[in-house]
Amino acid sequence: MTQLGTKENPLRVAIIGAGPTGFYAADFLLKHKNYVIQVDMYDRLPTPFGLVRGGVAPDHQKIKTVTKAFDKTAKHPNFRFFGYVELGKDVVVADLRQHYHQILYTVGASTDRKLGIPGEDLIGSRTATEFVAWYNGHPDYRDYEFNLDSHENVAIVGVGNVAVDVARILCRTQGELNETDIADHAQAALARSSIKNIYMLGRRGPAQAAFTNTEVRELGELLGADTVVLADEAKLDPLSQQELTVSNDRLLNQKVEIIQEFTHKPRTDKPRTLTLRFLVSPVELIGDENGHIKAMRLVKNELYQAERGGLGARATDQFEELPVTLAFRSVGYQGVPLADVPFDAKRGVIANQGGRVIDLESKQPILGEYTAGWIKRGANGIIGTNKPDAVETANAMLADMAEGKVLNPTAPTAAAITAFIAARQPCYFTYDDWSTLDKLEVSKGEAEGRPRYKFTQIADMLAAVGKL
Ligand code: NAP
Repeated sequence: MTQLGTKENPLRVAIIGAGPTGFYAADFLLKHKNYVIQVDMYDRLPTPFGLVRGGVAPDHQKIKTVTKAFDKTAKHPNFRFFGYVELGKDVVVADLRQHYHQILYTVGASTDRKLGIPGEDLIGSRTATEFVAWYNGHPDYRDYEFNLDSHENVAIVGVGNVAVDVARILCRTQGELNETDIADHAQAALARSSIKNIYMLGRRGPAQAAFTNTEVRELGELLGADTVVLADEAKLDPLSQQELTVSNDRLLNQKVEIIQEFTHKPRTDKPRTLTLRFLVSPVELIGDENGHIKAMRLVKNELYQAERGGLGARATDQFEELPVTLAFRSVGYQGVPLADVPFDAKRGVIANQGGRVIDLESKQPILGEYTAGWIKRGANGIIGTNKPDAVETANAMLADMAEGKVLNPTAPTAAAITAFIAARQPCYFTYDDWSTLDKLEVSKGEAEGRPRYKFTQIADMLAAVGKL
């Protein structure tokens, strides 16, 4: 047999998950100078791009232009896309091991973390992850209901960038939303919204807020809402002040300044008020006789020097009730296990060392299986953070290949794989199918002065490219 990684015997890699990490890894592998590598990328949806399509807020179109680079990668002759093929349903890991030398899981983190407080399951207690997927037209969430017309006061727990996205979308005017690719059903629900007050709740102080400066600054520029911070919560406690002085972190100083500026901003007659709260934690969601939330009980926190470093929040004996009837928890995304892939349930990631999937008991690498992105390291960082992460794993893959540590597939040819997938999922999407859909979305959007008009039902996507 000719050497692996050559034109005659290319290294065949399956990438599971067509989000940014999958594309960064594909790009790195396809551009390798010495090896010929063929990449097949799978996604359970017909559409690629993961959270760039289903997570990045519809009013942040500039961030979405990163997909231009992914389109370039997809043009490589050794790249193929198999959309609408689900691992665990249409194919299983054992199938992939018969067709590929290496498998890379880049499936992201699709669920939310829980707060673990009483009342979390009351009606009106929702997750940011499902709200985000709903307003972005993700097919799995399009039929969720958000009755925004029956609430005046809403809480968002957490002060990360996702919480900011949720708050901003709730505050946007219809005019602003008209310029986005928000899903129709979400825009219609937002048009009927009776929400007046939105509270974003940080358990620690301004100097520990997880959102980034650009994102929090944008909250001061909303056409439909005044953003407010309470003066006593904006003031830094001595521990934060000391930490800030010692670190002399320019960006962090800037963030604190932005937050503190909100305390002086004059109120206007904008229809909504967004209040950023700090040093408060929800301890209970209080229900009415019908099982709906009628309030959230908060405890005031104080900061302390945590043993593992940084400042932690601990509860005081001061409580208050916030009269909210809708609450979004936005305390981070969490990975979900894939069938037959070892999962570190504590961390919510695929068990791995530097991207090599490991056996849970022996802690030894499992031959030919790798992971990258949020499902490897947890849900943190911006889109670009996934590039070095993907490269780390891709380098591990190349090092293993150089040592002959690859799978021994029985049918590793492009034709055998196509035939196999066509048998399992005859309606699979190629990248050309996606490009057709993309053009249709963009042209329909342009006709309405929007960046695109998304397909939100899989049946419509299939019909649009003649697969139904
Ligand atoms: P995140 O950045 O990890 O923020 C989670 C927030 O939830 C933090 O404020 C955290 O507070 C808080 N939290 C966690 N557990 C809590 C609890 N039990 N009670 C109260 N608060 C709790 O997560 P995310 O907002 O979901 O974002 C995920 C990643 O995507 C981040 O890296 C983010 O930057 C990125 N993202 C970026 C953009 C953008 O660039 N525009 C947009 C969206 C998302 P502590 O800090 O105290 O733990």
